[in-house]
Amino acid sequence: MPEAIDWRTALPAGFRWPDGIRAAACFTFDVDAESPILFEHPEAAAWLDVMSHQAYGARTGIARLLRVLDRRGIQATCFIPGYSAQRWPEICRSIRDAGHEIGHHGYLHEGAHGATRDLEEERLVHGLAVLDEILGVRPTGYRAPNWELTYETPAILAKHGFVYDSGLMDADHPYVLATSSEPGAPTLIELPGHWGLDDWEPYNYLPGITGSGVISSPDDVIDRWTLELDALVDEGGLFMLTNHPFVSGRASRAVALERLIERAQSIDGLWIATGAAIAAHVATLGLEPVVHRPPDLPAD
Ligand SMILES: [Zn+2]
Repeated sequence: MPEAIDWRTALPAGFRWPDGIRAAACFTFDVDAESPILFEHPEAAAWLDVMSHQAYGARTGIARLLRVLDRRGIQATCFIPGYSAQRWPEICRSIRDAGHEIGHHGYLHEGAHGATRDLEEERLVHGLAVLDEILGVRPTGYRAPNWELTYETPAILAKHGFVYDSGLMDADHPYVLATSSEPGAPTLIELPGHWGLDDWEPYNYLPGITGSGVISSPDDVIDRWTLELDALVDEGGLFMLTNHPFVSGRASRAVALERLIERAQSIDGLWIATGAAIAAHVATLGLEPVVHRPPDLPAD
């Protein structure tokens, strides 16, 4: 824990954006396709209805979203599970060839909760090998499937040459993440996200698998995200938005997302950048690493 906080300022000690910049926005897409469903419900591999729902991104949504990004002239960061790259290689190459950053998102979208360190590392290495084989890419950024990390995850990422993680939820600003509490431990850059800036919860519904059946209007979702964008700009923070092509690639959702991007582009001093570009900036600041320690459970 920090020794003390300075609550008079929103900016963490030593943090600053590049000259002329007062906040940042990163538009990210997790190219999950079938992988999260197959990891949690392997029996669904035989269910055409469910598989077609997950294939919407690859067959329809990604092209639409690439058109949106192209019209707006921005670069996104796309976190791709290895399995998605194997199943939809040409689609994933299109993302790469359109100039977007490719990040790591597991092999079969494996949540880390309950995994041993060895198993976590094995899955990470498998995903890396597949992204290299199919896309010829060695990602520097990682987003944990299901946003699930263990206290071992940062050290495994650093061991395999990752520069940044995007998925912890304890800050509004990027920070330097210590990979262990050992003095001098390797560090990563952390680009925090949040469930509230993820399209899965408001939009996604698969009977018996995910969602409540209440599907939000894109107007409501974009209103909520716009409130957070404006508030984070005022605080000098990072607006880290997470969309899924099979979710937000739907027609009216993509229209609403384009509206949000337009709004972001109209904000003076807002830097719209990839995770890699933001992490590269943060790495120059010489920030004190943040150490996460697991809490002690109270004695009985
Ligand atoms: Zn995902």
